[in-house]
Amino acid sequence: MKAIQIQQPGGAEALQVVDIPVPKPKLNEAVVKIAAAGVNFIDVYLREGRYKAPLPFVNGQEASGVVSEIGADVKIVKPGDRVAYAGPLGAYAEYAAVPAERLVPIPNGVSDRDAAAAMLQGMTAHYLAYDTFPLKSGQTALVHAAAGGVGLLLVQMAHNLGARVIGTVSTEEKAKLAREAGADEVILYTKTDFEAETKRLTGGRGVDVVYDSVGKTTFDKGLNVLRPRGMMVLYGGSSGAVPPFDLIQLSAKGSLFVTRPKLGDYIITREELLARAEAVLGMIAAGKLKLRVEHIYNLEDAQQAHRDLEGRKTTGKLLLIP
Ligand code: NDP
Repeated sequence: MKAIQIQQPGGAEALQVVDIPVPKPKLNEAVVKIAAAGVNFIDVYLREGRYKAPLPFVNGQEASGVVSEIGADVKIVKPGDRVAYAGPLGAYAEYAAVPAERLVPIPNGVSDRDAAAAMLQGMTAHYLAYDTFPLKSGQTALVHAAAGGVGLLLVQMAHNLGARVIGTVSTEEKAKLAREAGADEVILYTKTDFEAETKRLTGGRGVDVVYDSVGKTTFDKGLNVLRPRGMMVLYGGSSGAVPPFDLIQLSAKGSLFVTRPKLGDYIITREELLARAEAVLGMIAAGKLKLRVEHIYNLEDAQQAHRDLEGRKTTGKLLLIP
């Protein structure tokens, strides 16, 4: 089968098209014939070596498809089932072997592509808005990179929960998308100082929560726009990692909370995984959550997909089709 393998970490050129055997399932695994694989920023961190995986490895942590084979101990899925998953490595390929307990059924009314597009970023937006800082009607959230993959979904969920959403984006085109997703205010943080503008928009009060996936270039100022006892949710570092940080700043800036969450810790048990996936896929089936899947590449063009994502050229979701 064709797959995109990383032999040595590096730039986009580290993503190599290889021909390797179709994986055989271990006792607890199912093999999925992949219909669509999601491209996520975490794939960039792994490719660069910022996050580590044993070499060589097939990149990609999100896909949808059909079960083609199961291990002897697997009872929860069978060949022919339509499934999707997020987490296990190896999705940039024609087939992937995945622990069966990580697979979720795709409901009727949700396409393979939408399922692949929704798993990682959709469940992330869901835990951020519903669990990390459970947004309530009337609260205000600042969402950075509001037209990105997670961003557009988080804006919609926050809006649907009744929150006032302030989004940041780099271009007018992205600003339009963020507004359509439900952002009440949009700041072009490449042109306008988002700290001063957020303070102005909140009448000096500050926001209840900052959802920050940009990291290095936004974190410090984000702390300055929180209300007393507000929460900084740092969930990524698209511009680079946030350097070590003196906790006394939290007291000086108003007894703030900071958390650095990751999806894996919000889908620990199968029960939690199924509940979260069903909630997200259910919102899609009901038309309450709109996906933007406009960046579709052939599997062989994974390098281009990474260049576009890193180059801030994309909005919404990127998919690879084997
Ligand atoms: P996005 O589609 O959001 O792409 C990244 C966006 O970040 C860009 O489009 C850009 O938007 C913005 N950005 C700002 N500065 C930079 C920069 N210097 N270089 C590149 N991009 C920049 O990606 P994803 O939705 O896949 O992921 C968003 C973030 O969320 C990532 O950091 C990812 O690691 C994190 N994440 C974390 C998870 C968790 O559980 N902790 C799970 C899923 C994702 P603009 O042009 O508008 O500035």
